[in-house]
Amino acid sequence: MPQFPRICILGGGSAGWMTAAALATKFPNAGGEITLIESEQIGTVGVGEATLPHIRFFNQALGIDEPTFMKTTKATFKLGIEFCDWGKRGDRYIHPFGDYGFPVDELDFHQAWLKLHQAGKAHRIDDYSFPILAAQEDRFKIPEGDVNEVGSNFGYAYQFDSSLYAKFLRSFSEARGVKRVEGRVVDIGLGATTGHVETLSLEDGSKVEADLFVDCSGFRGVLIEQTLETGYEDWSEWLPCNRAVAIPCESKGELSPYTRATARTAGWQWRIPLQHRTGNGHVYCSEFISDDEAIAQLLDNLEGAQLADPNQLYFKTGRRKKFWNRNVVSIGLSAGFLEPLESTSIHLIQEGITTLIELFPSAGIEALDVDEYNRRMGLNFERVRDFLLLHYIATQRDDSEMWRHFRALKLPDSLDERLQAWLSRGHIPAYEFGVFLPPSWLAVMLGQNLMPTDYDPRLDRYEMDELHQRLETIRTQTADAVRATPTQAEFLAQYGAASRSPRAKAAS
Ligand SMILES: Cc1cc2nc3c(=O)[nH]c(=O)nc-3n(C[C@H](O)[C@H](O)[C@H](O)COP(=O)(O)OP(=O)(O)OC[C@H]3O[C@@H](n4cnc5c(N)ncnc54)[C@H](O)[C@@H]3O)c2cc1C
Repeated sequence: MPQFPRICILGGGSAGWMTAAALATKFPNAGGEITLIESEQIGTVGVGEATLPHIRFFNQALGIDEPTFMKTTKATFKLGIEFCDWGKRGDRYIHPFGDYGFPVDELDFHQAWLKLHQAGKAHRIDDYSFPILAAQEDRFKIPEGDVNEVGSNFGYAYQFDSSLYAKFLRSFSEARGVKRVEGRVVDIGLGATTGHVETLSLEDGSKVEADLFVDCSGFRGVLIEQTLETGYEDWSEWLPCNRAVAIPCESKGELSPYTRATARTAGWQWRIPLQHRTGNGHVYCSEFISDDEAIAQLLDNLEGAQLADPNQLYFKTGRRKKFWNRNVVSIGLSAGFLEPLESTSIHLIQEGITTLIELFPSAGIEALDVDEYNRRMGLNFERVRDFLLLHYIATQRDDSEMWRHFRALKLPDSLDERLQAWLSRGHIPAYEFGVFLPPSWLAVMLGQNLMPTDYDPRLDRYEMDELHQRLETIRTQTADAVRATPTQAEFLAQYGAASRSPRAKAAS
């Protein structure tokens, strides 16, 4: 292999263009050696609109100007995800991007809250979270200044039109030397002795040669699976939803800075507000509902006029047995898929890209790097799987076959152990390579009515009144900070990113 490998990316969806943009930025002298092949005839999956806060750091690392990005991709800001009807019908909570309150000296805030809650002296935990209260009132601002201030101690993400994002990154990458080839790959040449992929042949007879291939060909997995037969670890036992239907509609009402996930009888429905429309979809399990019923349920629950025909998607939850096999690294849907309940797919693409860059085979592919890549990505996928499963099993619902299926499910040990630590003493172990930090677990467990029986005994060195006073100060400051925050529509308008007509909220 030459000093810097020639790279070929197969696929021009979000995964392909995010990979191209990042590699061209991080290795600017190698721009001419990066080729991306995509086929307009095949097209992209056409969904994937809600993200996690980490995407901001991805865009920042590329030097992308935020207002330009917001305007180009018709994006809105996202402070978290609202979950409706999950613990039981009628329940509603927000998983916010940010901590609740502040630690009490070295002790977690939620432990102090649990102690007060058990004594009947705490408000809702939501009242100590700026992003939750701001989201509930459709307000938004960029966190700024001191992270010790309640109004700045939070994160945010975006909700955007993913096809516009891929287009945006295409121009960005081509301007940095990435070569785009249009056409369908119909044949793949393997090295006789190495078994490595060497050439991709297109329908028009042309060929692309490279040393390292990134498979971003979507669910097909043209290189990683159809060619190398890497194998797939099927996780449908835990996450049985296997289909989705997406339908955009006209927006109604205030521009909400959050995604909504509403539990249904055989799956759940997403609502993602963009500047120009609202994205909707129904993720469901075909064992418990027919496609026609699933579409009918979605159409019955649209807030505005339908803007396109249903886009039907089929998938199997799980992960590739090896994400990196020989000289092929799979990124995006070709690497695996976990349902979009917590908007994790684009994040897993980002993890794949940053891990590849960190372990980049500039002097040849080393088995140690390949193993490390596979280990890290395996942990990332597994931890997302456990977090998603938490939503289905922390429930009192048993009103349909799907919910009864989850009531009887044997959990993976990794999730079972976390639940025991929480239920006994409110402990949430931190771990390596997992995107969801303790506040996220806390949000879902409390939001779905899993209350620990005890709290950290170190809290007993504080008088109840002192703890109460500390939490009251945080609660009052949070409410004041939210009142002084503009609506998202107002914020977008003054931020230089076009928006629907702003409607003022009293800021008093
Ligand atoms: C129902 C659903 C909802 C989702 N919602 C979210 C969400 O809210 N948030 C989130 O983060 N993610 C979400 N995702 C995931 C997200 O859509 C994908 O992770 C993201 O779009 C990346 O897709 P991709 O680029 O891997 O594949 P694709 O978009 O399918 O792109 C594949 C590319 O490969 C090309 N290709 C394939 N075969 C060939 C060939 N033989 N020759 C040439 N080119 C070829 C295609 O033309 C295309 O350019 C969702 C996914 C689904 C299914």
